[in-house]
Amino acid sequence: MASAPPSPSASDSAAPVDVAIVGAGISGLATAFWLRRDHGISPIVLEGAPSAGGLIETATESDFIFDRGPQSILAGDPDVEDLVRGLGLEATRIYAPPATRNRFIVRDGKLVPLPLGPVQFLRTPLLTAGAKARFFGEPFVPRGPRTARPGESVGSFVRRRLGPEFLDSFVGPFVSGIYAGDPDRLGVASAFPRLAALEARGGSLTVGAVRKLLGWDGPPARLPANGQPARRGLFSFRGGMAALPRALAADAGAALRTGVRVAALREPSTPEGPFGLELAGGAELAARNVVLAGRADESVELLGDAVAPLATIPYAPVAVVALAYRRQDVAHALDGFGFLARADAGLAVLGCLFSTTLWADRAPAGHVILTCYVGGVRAPQRATADEADLIAWVREDLAATLGVAGEPVRAHVRRIRLAIAQYEPEHAARIASAAALERARPGLFLTGAWRDGVGVRDRIGRSRELAARVASTTRR
Ligand SMILES: Cc1cc2nc3c(=O)[nH]c(=O)nc-3n(C[C@H](O)[C@H](O)[C@H](O)COP(=O)(O)OP(=O)(O)OC[C@H]3O[C@@H](n4cnc5c(N)ncnc54)[C@H](O)[C@@H]3O)c2cc1C
Repeated sequence: MASAPPSPSASDSAAPVDVAIVGAGISGLATAFWLRRDHGISPIVLEGAPSAGGLIETATESDFIFDRGPQSILAGDPDVEDLVRGLGLEATRIYAPPATRNRFIVRDGKLVPLPLGPVQFLRTPLLTAGAKARFFGEPFVPRGPRTARPGESVGSFVRRRLGPEFLDSFVGPFVSGIYAGDPDRLGVASAFPRLAALEARGGSLTVGAVRKLLGWDGPPARLPANGQPARRGLFSFRGGMAALPRALAADAGAALRTGVRVAALREPSTPEGPFGLELAGGAELAARNVVLAGRADESVELLGDAVAPLATIPYAPVAVVALAYRRQDVAHALDGFGFLARADAGLAVLGCLFSTTLWADRAPAGHVILTCYVGGVRAPQRATADEADLIAWVREDLAATLGVAGEPVRAHVRRIRLAIAQYEPEHAARIASAAALERARPGLFLTGAWRDGVGVRDRIGRSRELAARVASTTRR
């Protein structure tokens, strides 16, 4: 059912709006987009910060472009494709070049390429011969006892199926790259649901990986609206990732109100009555449906005890340290996506992206940008250290790993105290309180990167599902 866009200048205590979304990160903005595009509903979006985008931020300093949060999005998902095309962003979309298939793991102070195929896998020094044999024996490892599975950690799962060396050299660094987390403190069913599901169906992880590598997985189950299978790989936008929230904000128009923090949420006084949103500064807004799209702790702030377990979802703190150098000051060829460090590599950085290899427009000719991540669950205190310390640690690590000499020509630091939700082994039980509250309070919906995936791609897809749920609500 279509509805008129709410007037942002109308008296906030006037007629209730159909849908109010609290939070204009990708979760809130994409939910608003899908409500408009798929269902003809124009929600109002309230964002406490001065601009939209949440964790997605790009800073431009003369000719240098620094992505201060996410750096890339995984292409190929029909929802992502529909959103990019629906926003008219196709012309500014850039894909990572083929060289960025190369990725490195730091072990014993050296960059070792990740094997890209079975032959390289057999030759890689990242695993001993015994560990390789163990990998190929994985299809014959019996499945875990059913009762242990719901709370099993990623660490335990990988040790059981693929062995401890595979965990330390491959999965551990990737867990750092995605969650800035510790494999022994993440639940496999919540953090990597496809892996857990594969095992539950009796499938082999090794065979699954080889099928993917060889493209035997067949066509995708769903196609984008234009009917064309989408290109795979990673993408961004010319000028930086912030192009995405900017386009979503433009699409929302006056329905997006930035600098408006929701201080409290009042429940409807009757089953049909609207929710009351108390805005910082004292104004009120009535809404028949409310979507909370902030962090887990921000939802708890508005909903209180009803979702108390969400307050126990930890967030990894992360510092994003981007350094620009003259090309001649970096010895390494930078012929890849970047590197991830093993936990025992003795580095402060969790990993580092070769940003200008990914996206050539980020720096003027003759310069490169290296974007590094520090802190995470294993070294939280580092993420909030002084900027000068962070830069010094990163410089030391880059000198050791990439042969970087000389002074950076630009340094950019963003410290994020609550950066990435940790899907711990108890995660399913924690988020159950959100689903229970949604059932108990028709018209109230909870979303965000603490639920069903932290990647931007996940957020776009889950937002479309949520929009369909909101549209089917009877509170109109
Ligand atoms: C350093 C880093 C690197 C990453 N790299 C990648 C990557 O390369 N690729 C990828 O796919 N993903 C990446 N991610 C993950 C991804 O960026 C996030 O999961 C995603 O952006 C989260 O979006 P969100 O909308 O759920 O939350 P947020 O971006 O946190 O947005 C929530 C918004 O809600 C607002 N809000 C909250 N409460 C209120 C309130 N009461 N009133 C008004 N406004 C409120 C906040 O101000 C905020 O703007 C990265 C994350 C980090 C931290």
